[in-house]
Amino acid sequence: MFTKILIANRGEIACRVARTARRMGIRTVAVYSDADARAVHVAACDEAYRLGPPPPRDSYLNAARILEIARACGAQAIHPGYGFLSENEAFARACADAGVVFIGPPPSAIAAMGSKSAAKSIMGKAGVPLVPGYHGDDQDPALLAKEAARIGFPVLVKAAAGGGGKGMKIVRSAAEFDGALASARREAQAGFGDDRVLIEKYLTSPRHIEIQVFGDAHGRAVSLFERDCSVQRRHQKVLEEAPAPGMTAERRRAMGDAAVAAAQAIGYVGAGTVEFIADQDGTFYFMEMNTRLQVEHPVTEMITGQDLVEWQLRVASGEHLPAAQGQLAIRGHAIEARLYAEDPDRGFLPSIGRIAHWRMPETSARVRIDTGFSAGDEVSPYYDPMLAKLVVWGEDREHARATLLAALAGCEIAGVTTNIAFLERTVAHEAFATGRLDTGLIEKNHAALFPRPGRTPPLALVAAAVDELATLRATTQPAARVAADPHSPWLDTDAWWPLSARHAAVFAYLDGDERGEVRLSGPFEALSAVIDGKRIAVRAVREGGRWRLDVGTQRIDATVVRLGEDRLVFAPGVRRRLTYLDPLAHAGEEAQHAGHLAAPMSGTVVAVHVTIGDRVERGAPLIVLEAMKMEHTISAPAPGIVTAINFAVGDRVPEGADLVDLEDPPAA
Ligand code: ADP
Repeated sequence: MFTKILIANRGEIACRVARTARRMGIRTVAVYSDADARAVHVAACDEAYRLGPPPPRDSYLNAARILEIARACGAQAIHPGYGFLSENEAFARACADAGVVFIGPPPSAIAAMGSKSAAKSIMGKAGVPLVPGYHGDDQDPALLAKEAARIGFPVLVKAAAGGGGKGMKIVRSAAEFDGALASARREAQAGFGDDRVLIEKYLTSPRHIEIQVFGDAHGRAVSLFERDCSVQRRHQKVLEEAPAPGMTAERRRAMGDAAVAAAQAIGYVGAGTVEFIADQDGTFYFMEMNTRLQVEHPVTEMITGQDLVEWQLRVASGEHLPAAQGQLAIRGHAIEARLYAEDPDRGFLPSIGRIAHWRMPETSARVRIDTGFSAGDEVSPYYDPMLAKLVVWGEDREHARATLLAALAGCEIAGVTTNIAFLERTVAHEAFATGRLDTGLIEKNHAALFPRPGRTPPLALVAAAVDELATLRATTQPAARVAADPHSPWLDTDAWWPLSARHAAVFAYLDGDERGEVRLSGPFEALSAVIDGKRIAVRAVREGGRWRLDVGTQRIDATVVRLGEDRLVFAPGVRRRLTYLDPLAHAGEEAQHAGHLAAPMSGTVVAVHVTIGDRVERGAPLIVLEAMKMEHTISAPAPGIVTAINFAVGDRVPEGADLVDLEDPPAA
């Protein structure tokens, strides 16, 4: 067994590999880009070396530099994780040439599966069922069009070198074919430097079911059963589970045998995944083979009790497979949810920024969290915006699903937009609950999964107001005492001031377009809140950074995160961003005035939230600019009336351009 390995990756997968290596007494070496100098994966390893600037080509894809570090620090092997260099044949060869073990399959197996077309030819010869289609070398557009017609529409045009759903186009009729082909080729050329495509029958309600396989250098291979990854958005996995709902023992054996045959056809060594697309009737077809550890491997670990990274390390060091097929069995059910820094309501656009608040549920034998992030970290534009994987186990699917919902409820992330609420809706949705999965589940249930935001829950307003009141008390009372001025306004009361038991304090918030208001009165220990004319008793105690609130007869724990004027409220069933409308900001001398709002950077207008004549509150979103894949909302600096909107959605604007004009509202 190795005594020292280098992990040529970052984020959760680097941390995850380091964990197993450490348990096995193997020293670990991290590499990092300048963006990751303080990242969790660097601290998770025993040694760390700088690669270079943040862009992947200067850092995690810099094969020569990584090998140089491995040689210099005496690492005997390199674990590539997934992505980056994990399926790079040239890198695997360079490792071998440098006398360092590449923890993965032989270069020839990577090469064989590197092209979807070539992989299909090999698999077809090995007797693995294929989706009806064309995967030949002749790329003449007229021939491709003829093949598409022969296969029968709808068809799917796929980049032969593709991955991550890029270069993939559905074509529903002969008339659309030429345009779709040209577009798939452009994407393929841009994304993979190779514009070759293949054509497949497009299955209309398929499932994505993949088989985890493992081979060793002694000619043996086993299947560690299936994962169902049907819940996808834009052909990318969102939820993965094992076993697949409705899978029969016979079909599992047939798929496992086909996958093992696929692995053996290319002399496979190490962890691999054979992806199949399956019709609702269970007929399955080979799609592609991924020659690395998959993001979703933990669900397999949860149901088999095996550590796949340990298997990788043992096999790479020349040992036999740790278990024979007959020794492997499925216990219970596991589901993984991928937490992303992205905005589901804006086409899953990545969200970039600093993680101001990070709270994860407790881990246990049933709840596993794989992440490379912690509070204070930046989600940078350079790398994949996956924040964490939440993996749960239960005796059966329903237990696992309930555990996942509870675990998701315990996730609080502020500073970047996340898909957590979207995941909660998907996991709770009847289509997922009943296990009727297909790759169109998210689109088919669009209305339920992307609802318009409802009214602000009163609980969110109460929690935010209690937090506001406590913050005001904490910041103003000591000052007043120091001032020792009996006439200090901080000790007295005016119409809204919160410190008196006799008077009410009013806190107002903006939630999207909706304005909410809470009136708090009474001593802090026994508050009375009025929302929409309804009065309710509130007791609030601060505990471990959260509020324990007794609201009427209900006891709940809530977190309120303050980010500028934003108040992010997390409580059971509540995930809300409210904007505090600070009364002092209006009254104070430095209150901002309406006027011309300039673009802070050059970019493209992606949304306009107002029309001429609108009356807006301070903080109301006016216009959204996209620059460098990030969205920036231009908000009203003061209340006003919109008198001009100088750009429309889709317009490119230079920095400093006058976007929107606001006029002060008429004095009340
Ligand atoms: P990539 O390598 O870009 O991820 P894949 O070939 O793995 O592309 O396919 C990704 C997803 O696209 C699948 O999980 C499935 O949802 C969908 N898909 C692929 N092939 C077909 C097909 N023939 N019919 C319908 N959907 C398909």
